[in-house]
Amino acid sequence: MTFAAPLRLAVLAAFALGATAALQDASAVVADVARALGATDLRTVQYSGTGFTYSFAQNYRPDVAYPKFRATYSRAVDFERGVAREETVRRQFETPPRGGGGQPLYTDARAAATVTNTSGWGGGALALTPHGFIKAAAAASPSISSRRVDGRTMTVISFTARNQFKVEGYVNPQRLIDRIDTWVPNPILGDTLIETVFSGYRDFGGVQFPTRIVQRQGGFPTLELTVSDVQPNAPVTMQVPPAAAPQPARAEGQLIAPAVWYLAGTPDPNSQLVELRDYAVLIESSVSEARALANLAEARRLVPNKPIRYHVNSHHHGDHAAGVRAFVSEGLTIISHEMNRRFYEQTVLKNPHTLAPDALSRNPRPANFVWVDDKFVLSDGTRSLEIYHVPNGHAANLLMSYLPQERLLMITDIFNDFGEPRPNDPPPGIVTPYYAALGERVRGLKLAVDRIAPSHGRSVVEGARLWKALEGKVQAPAVSN
Ligand SMILES: [Zn+2]
Repeated sequence: MTFAAPLRLAVLAAFALGATAALQDASAVVADVARALGATDLRTVQYSGTGFTYSFAQNYRPDVAYPKFRATYSRAVDFERGVAREETVRRQFETPPRGGGGQPLYTDARAAATVTNTSGWGGGALALTPHGFIKAAAAASPSISSRRVDGRTMTVISFTARNQFKVEGYVNPQRLIDRIDTWVPNPILGDTLIETVFSGYRDFGGVQFPTRIVQRQGGFPTLELTVSDVQPNAPVTMQVPPAAAPQPARAEGQLIAPAVWYLAGTPDPNSQLVELRDYAVLIESSVSEARALANLAEARRLVPNKPIRYHVNSHHHGDHAAGVRAFVSEGLTIISHEMNRRFYEQTVLKNPHTLAPDALSRNPRPANFVWVDDKFVLSDGTRSLEIYHVPNGHAANLLMSYLPQERLLMITDIFNDFGEPRPNDPPPGIVTPYYAALGERVRGLKLAVDRIAPSHGRSVVEGARLWKALEGKVQAPAVSN
């Protein structure tokens, strides 16, 4: 019995050696996997199922999973034309509502997107299906290696998509794809792993297709799908949308009070700028580094003789924290809720940004933070800017900014001004718990709010709009589990 362990190791080494010898020809392995999947003659596929989707980078706190939605999902893929269309219907699942992603959803939220193999995702969304992966690998210059995963030796097929993105597929003993990894750039998380795991393969008309697909991004799930219907070579007709012109990053200041500007522009959301005696404060960041830097350039144009010393970061969501690193690189002190400390210090500032080097990776600089608990005030003796934590369901760390002299409130996400009703708004007479939380906080602090400058909006609105929005019964959407 004493030699059992060394013997097992020896057997393993021999197997690994054999495996290595068998892996010499990458294209032979790729062809073998394509045959096992039934991908060789697969021109199109249509599949659908049910499960859950999650809103990436919209979690209630930085350390919890993204908000979860019950979902029905269908996808049509045309491998020959390199086009896929995805349709999702999301339903409220979190109860009580927690996090962003359009919550609370009072009705089903429908979304459809058409992608090509050059859009989004590192390898193109098509390469993140087993059949799309193996077809993309065959068309690229794949390499193979042997790796130990959970005590098993697996063959890994790797290639570089679009000369930039590494894509790796793990082949199981049945010669099917167990998992595909790729890495994509993200302005907050840096080089971000997208991990797609396939299991429960079944035969659908000669094609092996997974009945379970689980995707994770940035360490948390984004999709959990149980596939119920697969139609290989179904006739699919999809229009390839014209490539959307990238939205230019721009910001334009509108004076909304003496020495206070609303910075409107694209992409959404917007920012606010407050000038005090010796410096100025840029409130709210954006969904992209480019917009954040456009905001900063506009702030410097409007207040040319003083430093833009502080940035107020409303919360950690993907559309509100993409400028944090850029502002660190420009020497601004970041004011944020203390709940974000670990996430910003250990993840946002430390993760590598090699796929899309940003301002901070080009010009590294130590970060200065002010961590806010309940309240923080910047004052120059005559005017002050008050920053308050707002306990609410959208983001546990949300900060709002208030100018007491101007009786002006600056807030995002739990009060918006989109200019038109949105499909999933509460029905008449119902108030969302998110809005109610803002009303409660403003009342509790006895703030006089004449006007509100919402970041998701166009400019300022009358403060009365908040109280009008709060007329009704506070109620979260019904959830049937
Ligand atoms: Zn948010």
